Amino acid sequence: MKCSIQGCPGQYEHRLIVHTVKHGRQVVVFEDVPAEVCDVCSDTLLAPETIRHLEELMNREAKPRSHAPVFAYA
Ligand SMILES: [Zn+2]
Repeated sequence: MKCSIQGCPGQYEHRLIVHTVKHGRQVVVFEDVPAEVCDVCSDTLLAPETIRHLEELMNREAKPRSHAPVFAYA
């Protein structure tokens, strides 16, 4: 599939990415999220059902597999 960013000649390819979501005051990190990523500009597309699944995981408050340190820049 061709990249949706204007002027970008890239193609989306299927990859597993690290996706971070702000959930209230917390940052939630998901690993191995299936996404379409442009091979030129790295624009990332998540399928609506993928986003729904991430929301479900957060709402269920499933135990995360691991904890990541979060640093504030300032
Ligand atoms: Zn692109």
